[in-house]
Amino acid sequence: MSAAPAVLQHDVNLSRHNSFGFAARAENCVRVESLAQLRESVVMARENDWPVLVLGGGSNLVLREKIPGLVIQIAIGGRRAESVGKDEVRVSLGAGEVWHQSLEWMLDQGYYGLENLALIPGTVGAAPMQNIGAYGVELEQCFESLKALDTESGELRCFDREACRFGYRDSYFKSVEPGKYIIVEVSFRLSKRPRPVLGYQALVDELQARGVVNPHPKEVFDAVCAIRRSKLPDPAEVGNAGSFFKNPLVSRGQYQALLQQYPALVGYPAGEDYKLAAGWLIDQCGFRGETRGAVGVYERQALVLVNLGAGTAVQLIRLADDIVASVEARFGVTLEMEPRLYPA
Ligand code: FAD
Ligand code: NAP
Repeated sequence: MSAAPAVLQHDVNLSRHNSFGFAARAENCVRVESLAQLRESVVMARENDWPVLVLGGGSNLVLREKIPGLVIQIAIGGRRAESVGKDEVRVSLGAGEVWHQSLEWMLDQGYYGLENLALIPGTVGAAPMQNIGAYGVELEQCFESLKALDTESGELRCFDREACRFGYRDSYFKSVEPGKYIIVEVSFRLSKRPRPVLGYQALVDELQARGVVNPHPKEVFDAVCAIRRSKLPDPAEVGNAGSFFKNPLVSRGQYQALLQQYPALVGYPAGEDYKLAAGWLIDQCGFRGETRGAVGVYERQALVLVNLGAGTAVQLIRLADDIVASVEARFGVTLEMEPRLYPA
């Protein structure tokens, strides 16, 4: 952790800092490794009247070519663990820690609960933003609290689970007061006893194929990594931001009406509503594998939009708009984009 002031850079190429690999340039950029550096950077932005983009790993962002104001890259590290009773542990991680590496570390220590979230790119600080989820586990299930800097008052505030208002790929920070808080540390309550969550068929099939009967969390972690590597494009090779749309929620009535018309419809109960697999809807509209110049729809998973090389945010949003219109016309369901377009 550095006590020195953070170094301000100008006209910075962000193509390696967003998983689409878009050729975005930041007017000003600063990499912060401590709370003190973060505070100074926020003050500097306010004094210059600069809009601020907080950047983690850039894996849930669609960046336009010019990023005005200040980009604050979060590189605040740190890992702490303290036992809570006999069976549990509180793990606190700096917001700049890499999510997947932190998971590997937790598993090595014998701390369990988040293994289904293996191989999700990005940082710890961004994970609560959309309550990351995969294979039947959401971050909130092991979440205890987080510390965030209030960019208006300069105070550090602690949020418990309730205050974070987690939802499906959603939180207070994403949709209630976007931009007001910058997360600096996240604490999880993990179990020292394995409690595997095995509700997803793909995971069950993969474990079965590996001959695993009572899986250890490390085996779940390895199985999730293997499935993801086989289905998802690696951003280092093909630019993407994972799922481009959220799975839409519809009422039971709408679900049943759609199911009658489309018996192969893929949907799952979600509270009183139903969650439709957005990838299936997009696939039915014929977009899977489609390319439009330098952008396209991934051929193995229609929910993933890709940059094939020299694509831009403008081209990608045009394709996304066509997909939304098509799905709406055919199914009467409106898809909502999951990553953040910046500037909006
Ligand atoms: P960034 O993209 O840098 O930022 C995302 C948002 O959070 C931005 O609005 C940014 O301003 C804000 N932000 C970042 N850091 C902070 C902070 N410290 N404080 C306040 N705001 C902050 N997501 C899932 O939920 N499940 C998945 O299974 C999944 N799989 C993926 C697979 C691939 C191949 C890819 C490319 C993406 C996937 N994602 C998934 C999306 C993405 O990885 C996650 O949302 C991740 O948490 C984003 O982290 P990041 O550090 O890259 O965030
Ligand atoms: P999949 O297994 O092909 O399943 C399609 C969709 O059906 C998923 O989106 C999932 O919803 C839902 N689903 C499947 N089994 C379910 C069950 N037993 N109960 C409830 N819902 C179920 O999905 P995939 O695309 O390969 O992704 C696998 C997992 O990784 C999913 O959880 C997905 O969210 C996650 N993932 C997320 C991103 C991202 O960027 N957000 C990118 C890649 C993968 P959910 O999405 O709600 O789980």
